[in-house]
Amino acid sequence: MTAVGGRLGLPLDARKQTRVQRIAARIKELKHLKWLYEEGPSGNGRAYLGLTNSTGCSSVWASTYPYNPYPFPWVNHLFQDAPSIAIGIFEGHMRKMADGFIAVRRAEAELAGQYSAEKTEAELAKLNWHAFTDEEFHLCPPIIAVGGDGAMMDIGFQNLSRLMASGKPLRVVVLDTQVYSNTGGQACTSGYTGQVSDMAMFGKGQHGKTEVRKELSLITMAHRGVYLLQSSQATASHLIGGVLRGLQSRRPAVFVLNSPCPTEHGTADDRATKAARMALECRAFPCVEYDPDAGETLADRLNLDGNPAIEDDWPTYSLNYLDDDGKQQSMELPMTVADWAATEGRFKKHFRPAMGDEDMVPFAEFVAMSEDERGDLNPFIYVLDSEGKLRRMQVSSEMVLLAEDRLNFWTQLKQLASVEVAESARGGVEADMEAEFDARLALVKAEYEAKLRELRIHYPQMVARRMAESLLQTGDGSQTVADVLRRAQDSKLEPLAEVNVDASLFGNGAAAKPAAPATVAAAAPTASATAVVEAPAAVEDDDDDDMEVEAYIESARCTTCNECTNLNGKMFAYNDLKQAEIVDPKAGTFQQLVKAAEACPVAIIHPGTPLNPKERDLAKWIKRAEPFN
Ligand code: SF4
Repeated sequence: MTAVGGRLGLPLDARKQTRVQRIAARIKELKHLKWLYEEGPSGNGRAYLGLTNSTGCSSVWASTYPYNPYPFPWVNHLFQDAPSIAIGIFEGHMRKMADGFIAVRRAEAELAGQYSAEKTEAELAKLNWHAFTDEEFHLCPPIIAVGGDGAMMDIGFQNLSRLMASGKPLRVVVLDTQVYSNTGGQACTSGYTGQVSDMAMFGKGQHGKTEVRKELSLITMAHRGVYLLQSSQATASHLIGGVLRGLQSRRPAVFVLNSPCPTEHGTADDRATKAARMALECRAFPCVEYDPDAGETLADRLNLDGNPAIEDDWPTYSLNYLDDDGKQQSMELPMTVADWAATEGRFKKHFRPAMGDEDMVPFAEFVAMSEDERGDLNPFIYVLDSEGKLRRMQVSSEMVLLAEDRLNFWTQLKQLASVEVAESARGGVEADMEAEFDARLALVKAEYEAKLRELRIHYPQMVARRMAESLLQTGDGSQTVADVLRRAQDSKLEPLAEVNVDASLFGNGAAAKPAAPATVAAAAPTASATAVVEAPAAVEDDDDDDMEVEAYIESARCTTCNECTNLNGKMFAYNDLKQAEIVDPKAGTFQQLVKAAEACPVAIIHPGTPLNPKERDLAKWIKRAEPFN
């Protein structure tokens, strides 16, 4: 006998049979998916990334079509096309990934007994990458477009802009060599002022490139929804950490990487890391990270970690040399953009041995002078000759322009990140607010101190008078002084109205102080309190939260990795054992202490408590400091 019923109106045996068929179909789908992940058409299983490559050094260095060294899908097209091709591949790739996730979701619904041919299939039909769970999204191999600065910033700029505006989580690597390296070294918009290259030669009429460098970092930020990392091999932790964060982002991610080109930069083949390091330190190529998911404000999103001595125009370095007696000497010098440029062939025409003393000024000082102050003076930098002796090189006016441009860009970055506020802006609303705050604070403090002085003088007399009055009022001999005092202790105290102190003005550390006059005044005689014996000027400060804890490093465990010293060379420095110490906690911000603690690979930096209660976003940094204190 066959039973009939159920929602489908089918005999039970028929329903079982339908479910068995569905389960068999699910198993087949999952087996196919497993095969795709483990073997697939290539026999190598699922690829872990796909790469679209603009024609250029990055495509031809390894081989020529149809051979390439990449163990994953790779496609090469015209200079400008890598971003556009990546968009197309991304669409098809995510459709394929969605098909796989649909098979898994369908099987999960079946296992949970929640599968419905109409409802489940209708929902699954709509699945696209926007609706992937985080787990699903992170299973998707990234599609990466790679090209040089010429491909991405010049000829292919519109394609890159379109990719950034699309919001699709594609990844773009820009190998920024500041010149068209592959086609013979023509000038690129990413090149530096004064840089000599094809089409920006050094001659009578022109001394290298006259324009300033195009900053792709700022252009990327202008698209507003794009993760940006500007970095290089100069700082491995910044580079790797940023790339990992970019790969996790559900937004487009652009990695602008300084890529020293020995041939076109005129440097030794083994000098790339050193060249990148110098370019970072002299502000030619600063580290920049912009993460739209890092907060609401521009300052929250823009991160300048990785740059040395962030507060300063130029970091400093030690130049070791031999004096005329052959003795080892050392001096501390600013690492200016000229000190970096002098080490690269592309700028060498801007330097010549300095002749006399009279009209020479160190380059950093010269750049800081006004036009009038510069007058007939000439800037110079120190270099070492082949014997390690000190020499001076005169620097061209183009290098001065380059320095001004680099400082200008560096200042703009700091202003955007709220590390530094422009004087023009400070002269406006913020400066006014700060001045008003300080004026109010001074007024309230003065009022408080005056009241305290007055109470100290008059209070004992008041108490004595009140006690006498009280005794006279009860002059029938029925009460003693002790009775009066006991009544005073039991009486209700009233607050003093005259001292109206806004305690919040005193900030965290001083919040307890304005309360003192109220306590003292409350103890003063009132209609209901006939006498008081409390000490008048007792100021209680029992707030344990106000306790200051100094920042410190467990120096014995320091691995000398340079993370903290790069962050702020005035706050952190090495001792004689080449292990880091906090030499001046006031030389930077609490934020820097926390960031150093986070960056320290052995977690030995303890930020303590903030020294400046007015520091921006303090609550956030105190929270982030907690795991390290
Ligand atoms: S204290 Fe930490 S971050 Fe600083 S140099 Fe030592 S190991 Fe590196």
